[in-house]
Amino acid sequence: MVTATAYANSETSQNPRRVSILGSTGSIGCSTLDLIGRNLNRYNVVALTGNTNAALLAKQAIEHGAELAVLADPDHYQDLKAALSGSSVEAAAGPDAMMEAVARPADWTMAAIVGSAGLRPTLEAVRQGTCVALANKECLVSAGDIFMKAVAAAGTQLLPVDSEHSAGFQVIDPDTCDSIEKIVLTASGGSFRTSSQAEMAAATPAKALKHPNWSMGAKLTIDSATLMNKGLELIEAYHLFPVTPEKLDVVIHPQSIIHCLVEYSDGSVLAHLGMPDMRTPIAYCLAWPERMWAPTKRLDLAKIGTLSFEEPDISRFPALRIAREALEADNGATTLLNAANEIAVDAFLKGRIGLPSIAALVEAAIEMAARDGLSKPGSLEEVLALDEMGRDLARSLLSKFTKSNLAS
Ligand code: NAD
Ligand code: MG
Repeated sequence: MVTATAYANSETSQNPRRVSILGSTGSIGCSTLDLIGRNLNRYNVVALTGNTNAALLAKQAIEHGAELAVLADPDHYQDLKAALSGSSVEAAAGPDAMMEAVARPADWTMAAIVGSAGLRPTLEAVRQGTCVALANKECLVSAGDIFMKAVAAAGTQLLPVDSEHSAGFQVIDPDTCDSIEKIVLTASGGSFRTSSQAEMAAATPAKALKHPNWSMGAKLTIDSATLMNKGLELIEAYHLFPVTPEKLDVVIHPQSIIHCLVEYSDGSVLAHLGMPDMRTPIAYCLAWPERMWAPTKRLDLAKIGTLSFEEPDISRFPALRIAREALEADNGATTLLNAANEIAVDAFLKGRIGLPSIAALVEAAIEMAARDGLSKPGSLEEVLALDEMGRDLARSLLSKFTKSNLAS
């Protein structure tokens, strides 16, 4: 196990920390590089990865002096190679190259691929025993038990990046975990917090992609709009923190200033506050166990004036209920939930289904699978097979939920 002190001492001015970023071309990846770029003497970039955006990946790799740049999609390899010609950055593409990027020795890896596509590389980073900053929550939703067993076996230090979980990680005292009565994750409520069911049914992808507080990738913004994100985060919190599902709760907090509250048996509630800017939790992970300066707006409570809270409305946002039920079922349903949700969000973004159909489709896929009996996956291969099954089921259900069929 890498202790916090040993890890902190491993960084010196002559010996900068070696860091890799899986998903560097995305929202979290770009914010991570923004912070690294402001602290050039503290970090050496080893590997950066993206999916298809060769131009951005090459630009990042050259700017940050990376050793290696890898695209998951091999069809874009020639573009990457051309964009890196004349530089000292190695170019590669495809699934094996992604695993090679992870295998390059690093002290710290940011896992910021979106979706269960990040599972294999992130699990490999865990197995390498490097310190892993985990943004890719779908890893825990899809394969939480296996993932956390791998973390324990490798002695990997896992640092949550998700703002609510980073907040929980910072306020939970490992010595008094037995006294935790409740962990409450806050949710902004997304783009449709105050909308009617009819308005939500008519929502276009462009409208749903406008998040009131956070700037994030497309999938996560839609997950926030359906509150599926908070459901995924309940499952994520279950795997990260030593509590049973009943002790996990969600409260809507439109200002996104408080990120997580931890209630103890003596009635004390410890909360973490900060402006909604992912560079704060990312900076915490980059500097851990110390702190670094982050170029974020400072919290001015007098200026904000009011912090408000509401119960989540499960009738308008059933995804939260469906995710909680999947967690409590403890039978592989969370793997199916994640896979079906990825297909449904993609279909919504392509204009094929309406926003409320995302949760309906996910629930229908889980119900169909449960009819034949579900059992908890015991290995990565079983997780990947269940993930594939969830995707197939969701695709087979798409036509039932397409806008034209719902209207007729
Ligand atoms: P994004 O869509 O902006 O970026 C995703 C990254 O993954 C990109 O680099 C993309 O090229 C890469 N990618 C996509 N598909 C891939 C594939 N099949 N194989 C390999 N790489 C692939 O997403 P994001 O908003 O940066 O989110 C990344 C992860 O972090 C998600 O799991 C998200 O839930 C989590 N997260 C994000 C935020 C945020 O504010 N953006 C906050 C908390 C958690
Ligand atoms: Mg979050």
